[in-house]
Amino acid sequence: MSKTESILEAKLPQLKTALPGPNARRIIDGDARLISPSYTRSYPLVIRRGRGAMVEDVDGNLFLDFSAGIAVVATGHSHPEVVAAIREQAADFIHMSGTDFYYESMVTLAGKLEKIAPGDSPKRVFYTNSGAEAIEAAMKLARYATGRKNFIAFHGCFHGRTYGALSLTSSKTTQRDRFGPFLSGVFHAPYANPYRCSLGAAPADCARACLDYLENTILHGVTSPEEVAAIFVEPIQGEGGYLVPPAEFLHGLEKLCRRHGILLVADEVQSGMGRTGKWWASDHVGITPDIITSAKGIASGLPLGAMIARADLMDWKPGAHASTFGGNPVAIAAALATHRLLEGGLIENARRLGEHIFGKLADWPARHRLVGQVRGRGLMIALELVRNQETKEPAVAERDAVVEGAFNRGLLLLACGPNAVRLMPPLVIDQEQADCALRILDEVLTEVEKRG
Ligand SMILES: *Cc1c(COP(=O)(O)O)cnc(C)c1O
Repeated sequence: MSKTESILEAKLPQLKTALPGPNARRIIDGDARLISPSYTRSYPLVIRRGRGAMVEDVDGNLFLDFSAGIAVVATGHSHPEVVAAIREQAADFIHMSGTDFYYESMVTLAGKLEKIAPGDSPKRVFYTNSGAEAIEAAMKLARYATGRKNFIAFHGCFHGRTYGALSLTSSKTTQRDRFGPFLSGVFHAPYANPYRCSLGAAPADCARACLDYLENTILHGVTSPEEVAAIFVEPIQGEGGYLVPPAEFLHGLEKLCRRHGILLVADEVQSGMGRTGKWWASDHVGITPDIITSAKGIASGLPLGAMIARADLMDWKPGAHASTFGGNPVAIAAALATHRLLEGGLIENARRLGEHIFGKLADWPARHRLVGQVRGRGLMIALELVRNQETKEPAVAERDAVVEGAFNRGLLLLACGPNAVRLMPPLVIDQEQADCALRILDEVLTEVEKRG
């Protein structure tokens, strides 16, 4: 069997060398000398190519990819329709800059984004190259449209690493240490996590307690509501641990925003574009944000982000905000192909496979002493690992061992939050691949549990 056939036909992992193999080792040595050490690689995977949910490394090892390049390759690696769309667009023109010129696909994609965005009001779209840039755009628009200065974000949130976005981000201190001072006027409030309510409330009262704190301690304590331009919230907290807040929390935020004329910004960079089994995590609870930010899965791996806002908010003047590359035509072509595939069955697949996986994971907290909680929606799934299910002491080293152990068995996972492991496969996986991933994870957990 030639190499091409092997990756095209493979559905399950197959390891041929010890990891990392000799070619991977050589490249990683070069990387260590030349590449910024600020990147956070968890294990030595050096990809050579990918198809669907499979990745082949430079030594011919095949991995089942439950990371999707950080929840990005929604339609799988190098989906033939996405590749064809990219090729076709690249042959016509690669760049012209939507800042100064027109091209049709910008309008076509915006029309599709308007249709899928929650709420009936007309929308307008600003294109970016990344999630962080979409957040920057939302921060600027929120100030511009409201004439207010302040922002609210949540403990544990991740909105990106450029200065505006980083001023909101609070998921890890390593992301902020030595980079301050940050943008002034950003205040952080507790995010409703009933499993570990940071306000000490009982699970059923956590959402209420967090909303009260926001209303009374932040909004009528450190800033007046009239000074707040926007509240930025991830409807499912991503890097923070795939936390799914009670619907009541998001409904409460929406009400509070309406009451005080504050804009509600839903950061759906990770949770959007079908990953949860609906277009947006917001759709699961029925909130209508004023602004939505999207990136990651939107173009199956080409760099594209979007800020989708209520049309009446986006009345800023020409030149007020723009980007040379944002909305690159090749990236938009990939996004249009991605949209077609998502609509054509992949969102439904994410819903169905998510249900299958959650069904299988339901008894893991009873079967595995390390598993404290299983949570998420669709194919945005996390297991929080604890040393003790009563005290919920975080099992950080054990979590790292699970991620590494899975890699050594051919399954690509990533960590999230202080002590969770996340499953975020491409939305093209089938049941056999889902079951294989769970079998490997089950084995690795059992092994790590045996160690002590
Ligand atoms: C990844 C992420 C971002 C930042 O996106 P980049 O493309 O890395 O700049 C912002 N918000 C959320 C929720 C994310 O998951």
